[in-house]
Amino acid sequence: MTAIALTIAGSDSGGGAGVQADLKTFSALGVYGASVITALTAQNTLGVSAIHDVPPEFVRAQMDAVLGDIKVNTVKIGMLSRPEVIRAVADGLDAHAVQTIVLDPVMVAASGDPLLVPEAVAVLIDDLVPRALVITPNLPEAARMLKTDIADSRDAMRGQANALLQLGARAVLLKGGHGSGRESVDLLATHGGETWFSAPRHETRNTHGTGCTLSSAIAAGLARGLALTEAVGAAKAYVTAAIRAADRLSIGAGHGPVHH
Ligand code: PLP
Repeated sequence: MTAIALTIAGSDSGGGAGVQADLKTFSALGVYGASVITALTAQNTLGVSAIHDVPPEFVRAQMDAVLGDIKVNTVKIGMLSRPEVIRAVADGLDAHAVQTIVLDPVMVAASGDPLLVPEAVAVLIDDLVPRALVITPNLPEAARMLKTDIADSRDAMRGQANALLQLGARAVLLKGGHGSGRESVDLLATHGGETWFSAPRHETRNTHGTGCTLSSAIAAGLARGLALTEAVGAAKAYVTAAIRAADRLSIGAGHGPVHH
């Protein structure tokens, strides 16, 4: 059986993040990838210069086309941009009874440009968080979802991961890459317990696409039949290697992409 994953996300014309990073990750991990594009970004390593939103009906048409034909094992969700698109995606997931969803609550690009309008955060929490098998916020995204400060210790991370579980998520991978300290520490919290993942921090400005790559790698592992904790561990190893190899690439003058 071919393992198949679908990414529902935005396009990054610079090729470093978004759907482009997702498909590279699926491919590198031996998973066939399909894509539903929610927004086009005019973007390079320096930043996002324009966003062209895809009409919600057309997002749904893409979902119907893919899910009506191709037997998708896992869906990864990234940039959604607007509340109308979130609602269209939630309806489409229900209509096709999609079971295994990795939700990356993308809010800003590595350049700092916004990728989700502020009023969409509440819709994301109401409409998509309860449908997800796992959500993968970084520290700033978790703080925005919970309307609180950015976690600055393991105890604070544990508290925020549990608060996110209370929002209806079945599992939360709270990513500590934006924190300080010599280790980059992530916490996977489920209703049954917690697992910490740690990797030595590697200093590079070339981290564009890190979040997309991690969530796609989790989706790929799940599509290949791994259990969640194994899929997260393998995904963390993949993204750590991609960050370590990033400086071998020479792409653009800003935040370059990680190396797949
Ligand atoms: N999705 C799109 C379309 C993007 O352009 C970006 C960042 O630029 C992201 C998601 C999030 O990127 P990252 O993986 O760096 O968090």
